Amino acid sequence: MADIIEKTVSDLRLEKRFAERLEHPERVIEFTFPLKRDDGATIFLMGWRSQYNSALGPYKGGIRYHPAVNRDEVILLSKLMTFKNSLAGIPYGGSKGGIAFNPKEFSRAELERISRQYVRELYRFIGPDVDIPAPDVNTTAEMMAWMVDEYNILTGKKEYATFTGKPVEFNGLKGRDEATGRGAYFVMLEAFARHKIPKSAKIAIQGFGNVGMNLARILYENGYMVVAVSDSKGGIYCKDGINVSKVMALKSEGKGVQDYATNENANVKLITNEGLIESECDVLVPAALDNQIRKDNAAKVKAKYIFEAANNPTTAEADAILNERGVVVYPDILVNCGGVSGSYIEWVQNREGRIYTYEQVVKELEGVMKRAFSLVASEKDKDNKISYREAAYRASIRRLAAAMQYQF
Ligand code: GLU
Repeated sequence: MADIIEKTVSDLRLEKRFAERLEHPERVIEFTFPLKRDDGATIFLMGWRSQYNSALGPYKGGIRYHPAVNRDEVILLSKLMTFKNSLAGIPYGGSKGGIAFNPKEFSRAELERISRQYVRELYRFIGPDVDIPAPDVNTTAEMMAWMVDEYNILTGKKEYATFTGKPVEFNGLKGRDEATGRGAYFVMLEAFARHKIPKSAKIAIQGFGNVGMNLARILYENGYMVVAVSDSKGGIYCKDGINVSKVMALKSEGKGVQDYATNENANVKLITNEGLIESECDVLVPAALDNQIRKDNAAKVKAKYIFEAANNPTTAEADAILNERGVVVYPDILVNCGGVSGSYIEWVQNREGRIYTYEQVVKELEGVMKRAFSLVASEKDKDNKISYREAAYRASIRRLAAAMQYQF
């Protein structure tokens, strides 16, 4: 990623100091804290918050609970947030946080204690004008509610705008839960029109969490053909399309997407998450974890178009292979910026003390996504040699550097 930033700064004929400033985070907070488990045992967990860049405003980015979370990953993701927020045109810098553990092995009461403890470690470094966390992988609206409540207890304030992605009934925003998926859908609509991709295109989506599930649902509701979906346990493929509503119903009963295969659907094949990346489709949407498209499988991708709904799903080597093969890749900082844009609307709502309707949120989000898409498309039109990722970085770094020039 350092390469694309250096290259973009040089392509835009900006001074090297901008690339140098963007090489490192402004601040990283690292901590370990004790957790008393339900059985009385005490364990220690490690957490981070990386505040990467604040030229455009307070730091903004999610919190991730996952065993693979580590300092470097949190820093990298906070760097991505910086470019994403700039491209989205919202008044935020970039940050990211995380705790290294597997939330699936902890009870709800333990998750509440962990979430509240995370805030105790961090509350001096966050706030509506300082750093505004939100959900990310494995973190939920309920966890944001615990966190904002803990923040308000510790500070004696009622600052709901310190966290976004809260439950609607706890000063959250209608439509924030589906905003990343809906935002990705708006990007896909723009791209489908630009490349004349037919509505019958076969779409494969990796991941059935907040992003993948909502995107699959919205595509399905609008008559698009989703041929493959997966969750952490594996995936399904059906060349005639999958009934996403039925898969959602299974998930809500606590089952996996693969349970759909036994559901009187004889032509549904079971696949792995790896297999989904290489499956027969026109459009591939990684919507799960990072580094899913790598050197070893990039040449096997059959899709002509990739929309990165996950953060950082494609390694740099894989990206080069895909570009070489003429696969069009719409990058994460564009495709998934709907989530943080929804967060922005929530923050404005909390600060203004007004309440947006769902329709207003969708309309606002559509505007943000279309603007971001057209910025990227116009960079590409100016210089057709570059990839859409480079085009997105050009648009993002133009705005970021214009602000950074006043800082040093
Ligand atoms: N976790 C989301 C992302 O990676 C949303 C961040 C936010 O809303 O602050 O973009």
